[in-house]
Amino acid sequence: MIKIGVLALQGAVREHINSIQACNVEAVAVKRKEQLDEVDGLILPGGESTTMRRLIDKYDFMPALKEFASAGKPMFGTCAGLILLAKDIVGYSEPHVGVMDIKVERNSFGRQVDSFEADLAIKYVAESFPAVFIRAPHIVEAGENVEILSKHNERIVAAREGQFLGCSFHPELTDNHRLTAYFVEMVKEAKAKQLV
Ligand code: GLN
Repeated sequence: MIKIGVLALQGAVREHINSIQACNVEAVAVKRKEQLDEVDGLILPGGESTTMRRLIDKYDFMPALKEFASAGKPMFGTCAGLILLAKDIVGYSEPHVGVMDIKVERNSFGRQVDSFEADLAIKYVAESFPAVFIRAPHIVEAGENVEILSKHNERIVAAREGQFLGCSFHPELTDNHRLTAYFVEMVKEAKAKQLV
């Protein structure tokens, strides 16, 4: 049995919890850093990355998040969560958690199109996935160990690097739980390896 946490400092937490539960997996809203010990994988939700960072610092989450990553546990960043995972952010000298070998640009789809929906082909997940983009970032550069899973208008919008999964959009805002299910499989595999 696995348990998946959703970082619950700010943003679209409830929807991720519902999506995890729809995959028949136990989900928990992680509000205190000690709760990270109880979960096998963590989703960093969409919201506002600068606000989330402030709260991460306020509640002293950063060392625990980095330890979670060092332990090899899977992390899935969606939208603002993707920005938190990235090692490099356009226009910023320092990353946030900074564990995934990607460079992201914030709010990069232009002001005119603050939010939109697009049907995406996502490798291993779906030929057509209804993706909701809200003031979304995109991946500008990806390191050699990063596998690109999806592009929209030539821009990378989903990728995986080993234990890390990230996407520009909000997979939890639709009834299609296949990307969450893909992350659930990553968490199950990581847990099985730890038990060997
Ligand atoms: N624009 C937000 C940021 O830069 C991300 C938007 C979202 O998560 N929907 O953090």
